[in-house]
Amino acid sequence: MGQRPVVNQDECIGCGTCAEIATKTFRLNDDEKAEVIYPAGDSDDVIQEAMDSCPTEAISWEDE
Ligand code: SF4
Repeated sequence: MGQRPVVNQDECIGCGTCAEIATKTFRLNDDEKAEVIYPAGDSDDVIQEAMDSCPTEAISWEDE
C-alpha cells in the first residue's frame, strides 16, 4: 500500500510553492488553490520537500 499527497483546500493560501517544487504533482487551479494533478508525478522526496515548504502545512500524506 502506498501513500498519496492530498491538499486541504481550506488551509491552502495559494502561494504556489508546492507547485514550484513538485511541478508534476501540484498546480494552482482557477481558485488559486493547489490541487494534485498526478499523485506520483515527482519522487516522494520531492513531494515531501514541497509538503515541508508549505507555509500552512496544507499538504499531507494519505494512505491509498
Ligand atoms: S505550498 Fe501550501 S499554501 Fe502554498 S499553494 Fe501549495 S498547498 Fe497551497
